[in-house]
Amino acid sequence: MSDEKIELLKKKLLISIQARQSLEKSYEKQFNTLTSFIVKLTNTAKGIDVELDNRLGKLRTFLNQNTNITKIDPLLNELNQLLNQHTSKHAQQLLQAQETLLKSAKTLQKFKHLPDEFRRKLRTLIKDIEQPQTSIIHLLPILTRLVESYQSFSVLQNKEQEEPDGDVFTAEQNQVLNGLRQQVAAELVNILSNIAFSGEQAEKIDQVRHTLSQDVTTETLVSSCVEVIRLVVSSITEERQSAQSFLFSLNDALNSVHHAVATSINGSKAINESKQKLNEQLKNNLVGMSEEVSKATSLDSLKQQINLRIKDIVDALNQKESLESEEHQLLIDSLSEMESRLKDLEVEAEEYKKKLSEQRFKSLQDMLTKLPNRASLDERMELEYRRWMRYSHDLCVVVADIDHFKSINDKFGHSVGDRVLQIVAATLQKGLRETDYIARYGGEEFVLIFPESKLKEIESKLNHLREAISNIPFKFKNADLKVTISMGATQFKAIDQPQSAFDRADQALYQAKSSGRNKVIITR
Ligand code: GH3
Ligand code: MG
Ligand code: MG
Repeated sequence: MSDEKIELLKKKLLISIQARQSLEKSYEKQFNTLTSFIVKLTNTAKGIDVELDNRLGKLRTFLNQNTNITKIDPLLNELNQLLNQHTSKHAQQLLQAQETLLKSAKTLQKFKHLPDEFRRKLRTLIKDIEQPQTSIIHLLPILTRLVESYQSFSVLQNKEQEEPDGDVFTAEQNQVLNGLRQQVAAELVNILSNIAFSGEQAEKIDQVRHTLSQDVTTETLVSSCVEVIRLVVSSITEERQSAQSFLFSLNDALNSVHHAVATSINGSKAINESKQKLNEQLKNNLVGMSEEVSKATSLDSLKQQINLRIKDIVDALNQKESLESEEHQLLIDSLSEMESRLKDLEVEAEEYKKKLSEQRFKSLQDMLTKLPNRASLDERMELEYRRWMRYSHDLCVVVADIDHFKSINDKFGHSVGDRVLQIVAATLQKGLRETDYIARYGGEEFVLIFPESKLKEIESKLNHLREAISNIPFKFKNADLKVTISMGATQFKAIDQPQSAFDRADQALYQAKSSGRNKVIITR
């Protein structure tokens, strides 16, 4: 064999080794990028579902410890199964919702003396409820019809009561009824301030709150309830849709990762087989060459034989090279497919996570005053109570209530009342330390918590806050408006639970009210 040919052969072998090394390096780099990407991605999906969290955690640990991607298959299968289970859970909830609607419609059907037209509509409605449904959204128009049926039913009932031969209420009964209506309206307003609505729904809820803060008839009370149910349902539906669409995307992305991994594995297998064949061919050629050299009788024939062999070897090396670049391309394609799907998912996961945390923040915040709401107060009270048990630091609780607030609403209107609430809330909050806490308990009442404080220490602070409020220069329609606040305060005692301390502070507030208002009463 000529030196030139041997050089060529060496060069080819060297290129082949270098190509292999660079392929392996790039594979390792891409693999690391992908795994760290998946780890990051699964972190963003945390908190949607405990089981899902578990599996994604496993996936993370696996990716951090393993480089053998073929072993990931079973875990991906498990994840897919889990996501499928979400779909079946949804189906179950749908069935439950259908059952509830059915029960509710049938209850209405049991009433006597219903007009024929009403009864007919109810029958069609029941039939529609019983139809199989694929999504909870399809139940919404049905729910609306059911709610409307209840609404017309209540109108029917009211009419019946107003009939001259029906029962006529005495003045006393009317007063009781009136009080009851106002109580229900106030409770509804209270509940509303603890639910987070946004956009159009928030505006509508504001209208409902406005209606409810005036004197209400039974009819407005019922229609307000119906409106609230409608808005709550539509807000829940939106939330559910966004959660579900995220889970579907996660499912899609995992499927596509699964598919890309499988394609890449199958492709690599086929290429490996071809490469093995080529290696075999190379080996045979080299062995043949050495046999021919040992058997050679003439230099010319040997030259001829060797030339043929070398041609075969060069061909085989060329093929090997192209197989390797094919393998490289296959890997790059599948990785970039995965990467682009996962990138989409990452964006979606970020958005969903933001939505979730906004929702959580909103659900702990009172929309009007932007103070923490009652749900937040319960959480915080529990926390401070546990701290107080553990460290035995002093802990004080205060209940505050704006004086004659109803008359502000009556004289100046509900929106002025709202504005007063906002300003009073801001004034109270401004006067507190970072570690103190204030929440809107409901209506025009606030609860304050002072950790690591003695009653003596907070008494002057509370009086300071009380004075600050009475000095706010409110002016409406050129009339001066003086707003005052009363407070009851107490300190946690050894036998106390959160409720007993709260009740004692509330009792002190009652004393402040009955002894003239615009006062702070301390009770031990
Ligand atoms: P008192 O000095 O005894 O506390 O009298 P009051 O008038 O402040 O107390 P009452 O409980 O009789 O009235 C509270 C009123 O607060 C009734 C309700 O309509 C009104 N209210 C509750 N929530 C809101 C709200 O978010 N905005 C407005 N503008 N009014 C509200
Ligand atoms: Mg009040
Ligand atoms: Mg009150």
